[in-house]
Amino acid sequence: MDLQDTGETDTRISSNNDAKKCCDNSLANNISNETKTKNEKRTDYLSWDDFFMATAFLVAKRSKDPVTQVGACIVNQEKKIVGTGYNGMPIGCNDDEFPWGKNNPVDNKYLYVCHAEMNAVLNKNSADVNNCTIYVALFPCNECAKIIIQSGIKEVVYLSDKYSYKKKMIAAKKMFNASGVIFRQYIPSKQHLVLDFSEINSNMTQMPCTPEKSNDN
Ligand SMILES: [Zn+2]
Repeated sequence: MDLQDTGETDTRISSNNDAKKCCDNSLANNISNETKTKNEKRTDYLSWDDFFMATAFLVAKRSKDPVTQVGACIVNQEKKIVGTGYNGMPIGCNDDEFPWGKNNPVDNKYLYVCHAEMNAVLNKNSADVNNCTIYVALFPCNECAKIIIQSGIKEVVYLSDKYSYKKKMIAAKKMFNASGVIFRQYIPSKQHLVLDFSEINSNMTQMPCTPEKSNDN
């Protein structure tokens, strides 16, 4: 309710003191709530875990794999992202020419695709990833576990362990336990996160306009 509405409402009910008092209280509450909303810290912001896992999921959207898109996000101890990666073909291996299927024993994606964890480590923008945490959608395989351990990463946060029965994941856990790499499952605070690009232009009081060209330019 804006201030103009307030004036009109007050005039209309001026003969009824009780109603006016009620309205005034309601108005005060509205203004109070609005002030509170605009001047106090948001409480529904993303947690760090939500943010880094969501980043891993966003990065996965870059993957061209028709079946499984996995992303990884490496975070240092200052909560800064130092590397991201997704599953894809090695540099120079044209992803229009290399195979994305897995049924042909020779022409098979498993021979070529780099996993998200490997790419995230190799894409790092810091000197090293010692003592970092890696966020991944799926529990890492044994090959990625080796890379994680050798790179100095100390914690793995994963969302799903749906292949826990496979020997690759069993071996990965065995190696993590032996080398002291902590792993924990991330439980999302909500199942869906929506990115709405139009949100930034909502509730605008003034529409943007293109600056006019000056005549003498
Ligand atoms: Zn892997």
